[in-house]
Amino acid sequence: MTERLADDAAGVARAARLLRDGHLVAFATETVYGLGGDATDGRAVAGIFAAKGRPQFNPLIAHYPDAAEAFRDVIANDAARALAAAFWPGPLTLVLPRNAACRVDLLAGAGLDTLAVRVPAHPVALALLAAVGRPVAAPSANRSGQVSPTTAAHVLDGLDARIAAVLDSGPCPVGVESTVLDLTGARPMLLQPVLLRPGGLAVEAIEARIGPVCRAGEASVLRSPGMLASHYAPSLPLRLGARDVAPDEALLAFGPPLPGAGAVFQLSAAGDAVEAAARLFAGLRWLDTEGKTRGLVRIAVMTVPRDGLGLAINDRLSRAAAPRG
Ligand code: AMP
Ligand code: MG
Repeated sequence: MTERLADDAAGVARAARLLRDGHLVAFATETVYGLGGDATDGRAVAGIFAAKGRPQFNPLIAHYPDAAEAFRDVIANDAARALAAAFWPGPLTLVLPRNAACRVDLLAGAGLDTLAVRVPAHPVALALLAAVGRPVAAPSANRSGQVSPTTAAHVLDGLDARIAAVLDSGPCPVGVESTVLDLTGARPMLLQPVLLRPGGLAVEAIEARIGPVCRAGEASVLRSPGMLASHYAPSLPLRLGARDVAPDEALLAFGPPLPGAGAVFQLSAAGDAVEAAARLFAGLRWLDTEGKTRGLVRIAVMTVPRDGLGLAINDRLSRAAAPRG
């Protein structure tokens, strides 16, 4: 079912076409095989989470063929530009604020205002990304809970028949994941860059270019807790499992909407969890803004069944509904 493509010009062209059409294609980077999907297409991104069988939405890295393309979607700063010049293409992921023109779907960033971007050092990956011409979201190409794959055979062990194709480039040279560096606080000098995940590029090499980097653990003393928020939550409170709705409430609907809400956002009229996942963060943001404009007091949320992507949707909704400190 899953096409196995040679990594020649024809294979890359086929893979790019599949990605542009919203299908999922695994491809090699220098670190591990990535499970790629068009990052601008919420349904393709929802498909990545479904194929991996993840019970949660975690933010994905957007991949680009060069730094200029990557910096189209985020607000770069001096540190980001210096590191990109020194280490891209390479195993370094930079987390930066999304910009106003950001093309990446909110689900790919798990609803956050920030976005992780990377230019991988693999000739086939770069050729593919250039041919797609759009950011490609790509977590490791394994089922949730399994180890990251470093060969096309590993990819097929977990994902055969769940993805459209795998572009076979043989074994990945690095085999460990990219180093993830948060540069979102590097603007007003107040806050230092933070190492979120050690990986293929040594933190000492980064510090040689931009100065001190906080290791995880040190970070808490330098950042306010709010800045470390690992998930998006609207400012209006959420009421889950709504069976009715009041005029002073906004409604996040799934299937036929309850009558009487002050504002309604439909996740999926047909009750399709993939469509609902693709619209979840956009819906929460819209209801939050619209609800405050109209003087509404909370967001009532209709029940989403816990099968398939419904599990991850419920996980995110209950985090968004949890009391905040
Ligand atoms: P992977 O799924 O292996 O590609 O890993 C992605 C890594 O990047 C995870 O550790 C994520 O938590 C991290 N990441 C991606 N986007 C963000 C973001 N916007 N803010 C913080 N960490 C991020
Ligand atoms: Mg992984």
